[in-house]
Amino acid sequence: MSWDRELEVAAAAVRQASRVCRAVQRDVDPLTLEKSDRSPVTVADFASQALVARALLEAFPDDPLVGEEDAAALRDPAHAWRLHEVSARVSAEVTADVGDVLRWIDHGGAAAVGPRAWVLDPVDGTKGFLRGEQYAVALALLVDGVPTVAALACPNLPLTDAPGAAVGTVLLAVRGAGARVAPLFEAGPARAARVSARDDVTGLRLCESVESGHTAHDRSAALVERLGITALPVRLDSQAKYGVVARGDAELYLRLPTRPGYREKVWDHAAGALVVQEAGGTVTDVDGRALDFGRGRELSANRGVVVSHGRLHDRVLATLAALGV
Ligand code: AMP
Ligand code: MG
Repeated sequence: MSWDRELEVAAAAVRQASRVCRAVQRDVDPLTLEKSDRSPVTVADFASQALVARALLEAFPDDPLVGEEDAAALRDPAHAWRLHEVSARVSAEVTADVGDVLRWIDHGGAAAVGPRAWVLDPVDGTKGFLRGEQYAVALALLVDGVPTVAALACPNLPLTDAPGAAVGTVLLAVRGAGARVAPLFEAGPARAARVSARDDVTGLRLCESVESGHTAHDRSAALVERLGITALPVRLDSQAKYGVVARGDAELYLRLPTRPGYREKVWDHAAGALVVQEAGGTVTDVDGRALDFGRGRELSANRGVVVSHGRLHDRVLATLAALGV
């Protein structure tokens, strides 16, 4: 079975949504707006979900979409300005009125049922977006609950470490067919994404959330000490962390539970997990279980997430267990 069309539509959709997110991030002063009600993240979230939903509705009208946002807040007459701002942002890319925008966002209200379902985080890493740092537009197709096609756009992630590298990276993957990395905003060739080949434990490069509420920084610090890892963890927001592991710039991404009841959301992991697996890496929860995307909006059978280049994955899991994570 070929997933070429799904990949093509997904890639074009996240590119289009990323252009709008980038424009919102550039135009709006997050420091001013963070304090007030007119949060730019809301506008970018809604505009991104509207655009991706529109593209999916046009190409695959029967496929459900599980998106993070719903349009209820936009329907509140007290926030009419927000709906108009979203509509204006969407209109930079496609012809749309406010009715279209609401209808497209509503399309993202599915609960991930059936043999095919798309999963979308329209702006993953909201806090990073507000700080002008990393965020992602993350889209995946689940087939029988298994991530099968992924388009992970990282608008602020440089394409390489080289000075002057283009900013904006997209990672694309199809189950069983590998992962690729390409410029997000510019024309340019895609290259294969492969995880790092490092196998010395002390040389592992670890990345984790900036937000201490999203991962237990003290636990990862304990792991770093226990394994003798020499570099300090690198902190960045969003599924850009999956992208960095997939292309070999880090060996570990840890998401260690901060409290017992939290369940990871499918849209925070579906695209990134496939990209890393197809780049040769390993993705489990902290107990070593595969992530189960077939349970609705949450990864209700899993606890935390451990992403690695594969080598040393079991050793990391064993060390986490020994640390009581
Ligand atoms: P990151 O940018 O990697 O820190 O992840 C951002 C995502 O963290 C958001 O999209 C939220 O869905 C998710 N999130 C919110 N609260 C928690 C929590 N307590 N533990 C883990 N993830 C969370
Ligand atoms: Mg998110």
